[in-house]
Amino acid sequence: MNIELIYKNAGAYLEGHFLLSSGNHSRYYLQSAKVLENPRVAAELAVELAKQIKLAGIKADCVCAPALGGILAGYELARALNIRSIFTERVEGKMTLRRGFEVKEGEQFIICEDIITTGGSALETAKTIAQMGGKIVAFAALANRGFCARKSSGKQAKPNCQLPYDVPFFALADFEFEIFSADNCPMCKLGSQAVKPGSRGN
Ligand code: ZN
Repeated sequence: MNIELIYKNAGAYLEGHFLLSSGNHSRYYLQSAKVLENPRVAAELAVELAKQIKLAGIKADCVCAPALGGILAGYELARALNIRSIFTERVEGKMTLRRGFEVKEGEQFIICEDIITTGGSALETAKTIAQMGGKIVAFAALANRGFCARKSSGKQAKPNCQLPYDVPFFALADFEFEIFSADNCPMCKLGSQAVKPGSRGN
């Protein structure tokens, strides 16, 4: 499965000058919403991800995704694994489980994102679930930005990866883009201005 081609064909592999949520700048941005707007493609990606998880012998009762980005990927993964799907959301900055969603003591969870960058939101979701008695058996994402090490890639996690090393992380592909701090960005030096992805129609 050529994930890069799927992102490119969906117009989800953006090239420009982007301001990331971390404050860093990048020439590329993955807009997973553009891939997931096609439910058939979303389902195919989730089936592939589920296959890897099942092959590794991971069994789970529920998928939990951080809103908003993770919800569609998490929902499709849960469908492919035939298990429940819930999501956490930020309330005044704190990752929270709302809407009557429940975690039973000892229930096994997969935390799913669309893209894992450093894994910060996924980790916050994992902590929220663990505090309520859930057990985190895996992390999953459609794509990995290359800071964390997905299972079977043979690569090492970088120091800024926030996912725990003792829980497997599954993703379909690595996309390793160079990122620049704002004061050391070659595109800024050429006079262009970084834009926040999602604004200006991208
Ligand atoms: Zn820049």
